[in-house]
Amino acid sequence: MKINIAIDGPSGAGKSAIAKALAARLGYEYIDTGSLYRSIAYIADRAHTTEDIEALIQVLEEHEIDYRAGSAYVDGRAVGDEIRTERISSLTSTLSKEPEVRAYLLALQRRLANRGGTVMEGRDIGTVVLPDAELKFFLTATEEERARRRYLQRKESGESVSMEKIRADLHNRDLQDSARAVAPLVQAEDAILVDSTSLSPEEVVERMATYAEDADVL
Ligand code: C5P
Repeated sequence: MKINIAIDGPSGAGKSAIAKALAARLGYEYIDTGSLYRSIAYIADRAHTTEDIEALIQVLEEHEIDYRAGSAYVDGRAVGDEIRTERISSLTSTLSKEPEVRAYLLALQRRLANRGGTVMEGRDIGTVVLPDAELKFFLTATEEERARRRYLQRKESGESVSMEKIRADLHNRDLQDSARAVAPLVQAEDAILVDSTSLSPEEVVERMATYAEDADVL
């Protein structure tokens, strides 16, 4: 039986890469909910409605956010690198505190999972979006290790960045995500904690796949 698998955790824990690899291994669909929140920040930024949430909700009514085959779409166009800038990351974290913004995305996220067979990753999947998900993981790593990985990623893609700045951005985003009143980043009671600090991505996927196979998901 195909089930839903929730993966939550802080920024830079490797959720996207792990969720993608786990989904491929199980023949499941990978759903990156962060890209939906990022799409909202992208629309808000372009419409200059980053301060006024009521106005933002109205603006959102004029746009369509969708998710297909591993990508978020805004008005039918796949959004990629333009939602991954540091500016959009930080704006996303600020806007995702707003209950109206979260409510706006809840139905879409549940619809994407309604036939089962998904690996959905985010911050509140196991706690709020899919509280009945059959398998839940909370993926984390030390802040130092998460910053180090992100630094290497950025450097590889040719960006000139400082480790201090990356660590500070990560720290602020986690603080903001964990401290918000609505759907904060927190481990679900029934989630399995996976600390990836000293594990390779392959080892993390292997560990998760073993749980999934034990849960008889194919
Ligand atoms: O996972 P990613 O880093 O792309 O997410 C960007 C931001 O979107 C997070 O920092 C968080 O503020 C927000 N988010 C959220 N709930 C989710 C997924 C992402 O609040 N389920």
